[in-house]
Amino acid sequence: MLRRLTPSTEVTLAARKSRKPPRTSRPMSPAEAEDLYGFHRWGAGYFAVGANGNLRVHPTREKDLWVDLPEILDALRRKRWQPPILLRFPQIVATQVSRLHESFRESIREFEFEGSYRGVFPIKVNQMEPFITELVKSGKPWGYGLEAGTKPELAVAVSAGLKPGTLVICNGYKDRAYVEMALTAVQVGWECVLIVEKFYEIDLILDVARKMGVKPLIGLRLKVAARGTGKWEKSGGAASKFGLNTAEILEAVRVFTDLGMKDSIRLLHFHIGSQITDVRKIKQGVREGARFYAALRKKGIPVKLLDTGGGLGVDYDGSRTSSDSSVNYTLREYTNDVVYTIKEVCDESDVPVPDIVTESGRAVSAYHSLTIFSVEHQQTVQRDVPLPPLAEDADRCIVELEETRREIGPKNFAECYHDVLQRVDEMHMLFNLGRLTLEERAVGEALARQILADVVYYAKTSGRRIPEEIEELERDIAQKYVCNMSIFQTMPDMWALGQIFPVAPIHRLDEQPDVWTTLVDITCDSDGKIDKFPDVRDDLDALKLHRLNGKPYYIGAFLLGAYQDVMGDFHNMLGETREANVVANGPGDGHVTRLDIECQTAGEVLELFGHRRKDLRARFHQAVNRAWDAGEINEKARQKAKRTFDRLLSQTPYLVADAR
Ligand SMILES: *Cc1c(COP(=O)(O)O)cnc(C)c1O
Repeated sequence: MLRRLTPSTEVTLAARKSRKPPRTSRPMSPAEAEDLYGFHRWGAGYFAVGANGNLRVHPTREKDLWVDLPEILDALRRKRWQPPILLRFPQIVATQVSRLHESFRESIREFEFEGSYRGVFPIKVNQMEPFITELVKSGKPWGYGLEAGTKPELAVAVSAGLKPGTLVICNGYKDRAYVEMALTAVQVGWECVLIVEKFYEIDLILDVARKMGVKPLIGLRLKVAARGTGKWEKSGGAASKFGLNTAEILEAVRVFTDLGMKDSIRLLHFHIGSQITDVRKIKQGVREGARFYAALRKKGIPVKLLDTGGGLGVDYDGSRTSSDSSVNYTLREYTNDVVYTIKEVCDESDVPVPDIVTESGRAVSAYHSLTIFSVEHQQTVQRDVPLPPLAEDADRCIVELEETRREIGPKNFAECYHDVLQRVDEMHMLFNLGRLTLEERAVGEALARQILADVVYYAKTSGRRIPEEIEELERDIAQKYVCNMSIFQTMPDMWALGQIFPVAPIHRLDEQPDVWTTLVDITCDSDGKIDKFPDVRDDLDALKLHRLNGKPYYIGAFLLGAYQDVMGDFHNMLGETREANVVANGPGDGHVTRLDIECQTAGEVLELFGHRRKDLRARFHQAVNRAWDAGEINEKARQKAKRTFDRLLSQTPYLVADAR
């Protein structure tokens, strides 16, 4: 019922002053701000609030190395860049890569594991050139490799500048060209392993290998029974799309053994899903995979690598639980469990341990990028819309609403709340029966909004515990802030999977926010909204933001570095945003690189969908010329029309602020 009211906390009736005491903004400390928006819960040490109320990024997690985000944004705006802007932090990429490797190194030391760790990054998680370039650079000291799942991804892997001997893992469905490229990679010095996902791939691989005279390095993908948890649970288990069942594994081993090629079987692979939220599932999967490994070693197959796939999760909501957008374990617990479980199984079976391969994508890349966008306006009555005068003989229901509005106060707000619900029901019923005029309804709606806003206000200032129904009401009447961005382009998994991403203002963090809001984007899709926000206990349906004050207000969406770049789509033809790399040099000292990555223009986006700019332009000119021929417009208007069209195509599809 309430949801049908226009959300508002701001309505004041024309010529009737609200008696609500004015609100002044109260100061907020950095610690309070960090707690309110959860920067220290989900930020993995990369985000902090400065005393000036600006959000800082500490891209190496060191205390004295940070950049001030609003300052970076100002510098970009001086170059006439406008948000939405995606910022990448190469130092975060490097830090995540070394955290992963160091954690494995420590676990390996702690459990006296005799093998080593050899990571690969799955390109499908972020294939953007600026990211891959940084990843490969920061992975060099660790011998970090790449995983490909398709031919273009393999093309990236073999041209990324990896050192000889580095691991390249080839997953996914394969054809001859794919296999030829992988075997060529072996010839020129990489340890390029072809993973057999389907049994019939063996014949193809053997055929190409024979013709090329190259000894293939083979990995067998296991169909393990263990499954992940959460949204990707179905990636594992017996019905999963990929992998060989136990009989197929035995048969594959027989085929290679009969050919005298059993030492080609280099690796065993499994992947039980992404974002595994519960650490017990990880242990289960690893234990099962390790059993396969031990059993094959016992049969004399000299498998060297055990590849446990991806799945290492990211705590997007900061709750440290096994909820879908979180994980109930730390990086170190993950590496401990993988190393320890493999060692335990190998010790029990009395076989040498393998080298460990993982294909963590999400955990390595998620933190490195964020998008800043502006709030354009709030989607409610901003100025006082004049209300029609109420007739003397107005319906009793409206008159009673007016009385309630006059009488509401700190003592009776709960009673008034129930009153107004009843009156609103009544009002709609009367309207549908044709017994209420448009004027009466207009005034009734405005009164109801005002009363509900007052209910929330008195509830919160009462010092008493806020009743749950009023807490909900607060969200129901939340302001909608209109944001110059597209969810579908910037954070598609929020729409597609209901995944939560942290969202928070990047400035004014020294000021208590006091407006409950939900965010809507500029697509014409009602799904283009953000109305789930991470919190300690439960997700929130609204986010507290600052009152708009006529100056630009900037919000960041965080942890977008995994999958979002790839999956982003062009709903309403809103294209890719501008982006840049940000590097910190010292405290508050940073610089921006990679200024070459432009925002897609409307014209470029149109071309993606087969509309040729040239043709569009020609057809529009035809229409303009017709009007000119017919004398409907003069020469000046004709030229202007053509320029207007050209400007439309050369601009960003996102909103551009009026020059002030
Ligand atoms: C998607 C995928 C990954 C990456 O998983 P994350 O959960 O992002 O680490 C790794 N390996 C395979 C085979 C995949 O399909």
